Amino acid sequence: MADTGFPGKAHRLWNALEERNISPESIKLIIITHGHFDHTGSLSEIKEKTGALILISQSDGLLLKKGISPPVILTNKWIKKFIKLNKNIAAPQVVPDIMIDSNFPLTDYGLDAEVIHTPGHTPGSLSIIIEERSAIVGDLAMNFGLLSRSSYIPIIASNLKEVYKSWQKIIDMDVQTIYPAHGRIISIDVLKNSLSKLKKSFH
Ligand SMILES: [Zn+2]
Repeated sequence: MADTGFPGKAHRLWNALEERNISPESIKLIIITHGHFDHTGSLSEIKEKTGALILISQSDGLLLKKGISPPVILTNKWIKKFIKLNKNIAAPQVVPDIMIDSNFPLTDYGLDAEVIHTPGHTPGSLSIIIEERSAIVGDLAMNFGLLSRSSYIPIIASNLKEVYKSWQKIIDMDVQTIYPAHGRIISIDVLKNSLSKLKKSFH
């Protein structure tokens, strides 16, 4: 499974598993796309009940161990005007089992899938390339409509240029469908369009 939501929200997972007749113990691996507290909130509780291993990138994992959510840097000047964010938001302190700094195939877990490094939203953000050329990208792209200026830029990014490079990386892997953590599915064609418009505006 990927990411564990806000603190105190594990019941949502238990309900979803029950509806599908899946036992919590059948979850063997929890992939954390990045260390923001809204993705790691219920991690301890979910790890305890499932007994799954936790996989995260090296750089976000070091912060997770200390109970720190990676810095929040807003990309949208309008939102910046209205929201003042604390740079060091606390996150639950959890010790990960696997910290990666290169690709991680999921074949040992019975999946034709791979975890790849897609930095930009946080320095250690990961994406999961899954079967049928889809990608679970965490917050590498967001689909909030107006809030993300309809261009799918995450409203928070440690490095926006890295975000665009990571988008290109996913496009080059022939991914067709993007699953963002916030908002609806994004087709690769609209992401390509958005990227080419953004590149033009750089020059
Ligand atoms: Zn995030």
